[in-house]
Amino acid sequence: MAKHLNGQLLAKRHEAKLKASIAQYLPLASHPPRLVVVRVGDDPASGIYVGKKQQACGRVGIGSQVIHHPAMASQEEVLETIQQLNNDSSCDGVLVQMPIPSHLDAGQLILALDPAKDVDGLHPLNLGHLLKGEPGLRSCTPAGIMALLAHGAIDLEGIDALVIGRSILVGQPMAIMLQQANATVTMAHSRTQDLAQQCRRAELLVVAAGKPGLVGADWVQPGAVVVDVGIHRRPSQGNGEKGNLCGDVRFLEVEPIASHITPVPGGVGPMTVAMLLWNTVQAWQQGCCGVVTP
Ligand code: NAP
Repeated sequence: MAKHLNGQLLAKRHEAKLKASIAQYLPLASHPPRLVVVRVGDDPASGIYVGKKQQACGRVGIGSQVIHHPAMASQEEVLETIQQLNNDSSCDGVLVQMPIPSHLDAGQLILALDPAKDVDGLHPLNLGHLLKGEPGLRSCTPAGIMALLAHGAIDLEGIDALVIGRSILVGQPMAIMLQQANATVTMAHSRTQDLAQQCRRAELLVVAAGKPGLVGADWVQPGAVVVDVGIHRRPSQGNGEKGNLCGDVRFLEVEPIASHITPVPGGVGPMTVAMLLWNTVQAWQQGCCGVVTP
């Protein structure tokens, strides 16, 4: 039976370290760390994610604010908000909550962020730093997965890893981080031929396809480490209760044969938030105290 890579527990430990780090640097800083989330429109899942980020900020002593634009906001209005936040010395981290309405150009908004405040690690400069292995703000989800793997004492040296999904948010930075840890990485996507065969070869499987239940037991090599990034709400049973959450992996099937597995919920999700907090604290330490984290 697979060991669970428990993101909920590990995120709690990170929160304790974050609190201590904030307390250490606060006397040197002009203000406590502060995160601002720019939200556009009323995507209901985004509302939940933003709420969780704010609660987590509150637990560790990071101030947080949401600037909520209506769905019809123009590109210029959102750009103006970003510019104001770039110039606001009391704001250390800014993130644009995705998804945003389709009439807006997400790439241009991210490019407009001050890279030193880009706590989602999506600005091209930060992605470039990642590619070169230089210090910089890292994408939260893959950074959280690396922390989970390290905590689970998974030896990545030479491991045969498959990353399913090639988004800039998850798949691409994940593959780079695994390569930098000396894994041998294959990337799969919607045009990959015989995905089942590719999966069965992998000793480490990171599934970020956004397809509920894509990976079942017949795709997983016994003893493999399985990281499930996907998060979906199952349809409600019509009894008035919300449907429960599931991932891209059929957990009950895969758990008996994998060596390690991340549950959904409670695996990757809490670690994504923990890494966002670290990035905010890192941006604050650098902005206020000149500390550069390697
Ligand atoms: P995305 O931008 O939609 O990218 C999905 C990727 O998966 C694409 O590269 C796509 O290939 C590939 N793909 C889709 N269907 C496939 C299939 N049947 N076989 C193989 N590859 C397939 O999604 P994302 O932003 O990376 O997010 C992926 C999932 O992770 C979503 O469920 C999202 O909600 C979740 N997520 C969770 C967290 C967390 O903290 N837990 C954070 C971020 C995202 P093409 O490139 O060929 O289209």
